Amino acid sequence: MELIAPLGIVPDARMLARFRTYFDYLTEQNEVMNLTAINGEEEVYLRHFYDSLCLVKAGPVSGLTLLDVGAGAGFPSLPLKIAFPELRVTIVDATQKRIRFLETLIAKLGLEGVEAIHVRAEDFDRKCSYDLVTARAVARLNILAELCMPFAKVGGRFIAMKAGDCDAEVKEAANAIRTLGGTLDRVIHYDVGPDRDHALVVVRKTAFTQTMYPRAFARIKSKPL
Ligand code: SAH
Repeated sequence: MELIAPLGIVPDARMLARFRTYFDYLTEQNEVMNLTAINGEEEVYLRHFYDSLCLVKAGPVSGLTLLDVGAGAGFPSLPLKIAFPELRVTIVDATQKRIRFLETLIAKLGLEGVEAIHVRAEDFDRKCSYDLVTARAVARLNILAELCMPFAKVGGRFIAMKAGDCDAEVKEAANAIRTLGGTLDRVIHYDVGPDRDHALVVVRKTAFTQTMYPRAFARIKSKPL
């Protein structure tokens, strides 16, 4: 965990114990359900825990409300919650068994201020809005923007965690971002190990999203903005 010092995170004993519990339970449950293709302590700490924490490269998160769309086994929101206990986290995921995994994990970690809801983002309550909406490895950016941006407050942000070679995807999503009430702020590149370039696509929510969004998923897919 010495990697996290440059992120401004000083690990204490409770934080380290929680990451250990997370690693153990993820590894155990990965034997019986498909949670991650990444195995082994070093790889999980680097490519899941550290990578998730790199979201802070876009700015401080402590004390914010965060919606994590399609968190799967909890990335990026749960490592962030472990490092910043003041963060308030809502997870939505379309897969029931992943939500069950998360509920047990949250209890094992003794985290408060985290809810995990089994719902597709496009069916989620439109009245809910968050300071920060994030998603990692869920969909192409033009589609992802429609799943996420309606739930960001005006003045808040949507941050997509992407592979480094996302230029074409960002260009393709320009219309979706604008239509949904956003402005592309910047793309922040960072390394997760040698030859592994990742990027944070940071979008500011500058205007309300029209209530017709998000549309039904079939529509989002067949006619992306
Ligand atoms: N963010 C995690 C998981 C990525 S896998 C990580 O980076 O490791 C993609 C996850 O998104 C799956 O758990 C899937 O169930 C969920 N998902 C896909 N489409 C979704 C949607 N429309 N609404 C909510 N969850 C969705």
